[in-house]
Amino acid sequence: MYRKKTLEKKVASLQSSLFSRGLPVSRDWIRTKILATPKCTYCGQLIEIQSYSADHIIPLNRKGKNIEANIQLIDVGCNRMKNDLTDEEFRALMGFLSEYPEMYKNVRARLRAGGGFIHGYNKRFVRND
Ligand SMILES: [Zn+2]
Repeated sequence: MYRKKTLEKKVASLQSSLFSRGLPVSRDWIRTKILATPKCTYCGQLIEIQSYSADHIIPLNRKGKNIEANIQLIDVGCNRMKNDLTDEEFRALMGFLSEYPEMYKNVRARLRAGGGFIHGYNKRFVRND
């Protein structure tokens, strides 16, 4: 459990970092999320406050809204893997992959590397951000 002062400092720091990237989340929202779910909703890994990554449950380019109700805090690796998938699609993909343990590790590593592994394979899918 975090000491109160430490928690507030980290919450403020995370909030200003997210806000500067256009994510309209309040300190109350962050504090509530962190205290309720200190683990990544997808992989269950404990997340340090500074390692939280904000994800749009329904991506903005899939008509998701940039509001607190559509934002979740997950770990960086899962956020990279989820990329532009919706929460439902990402859970389905992970469920599917878990049926193939040998393939899972390889695909997971590639997804965690983000779009980079596709670079040079098919330039249409290279992200520009
Ligand atoms: Zn995760």
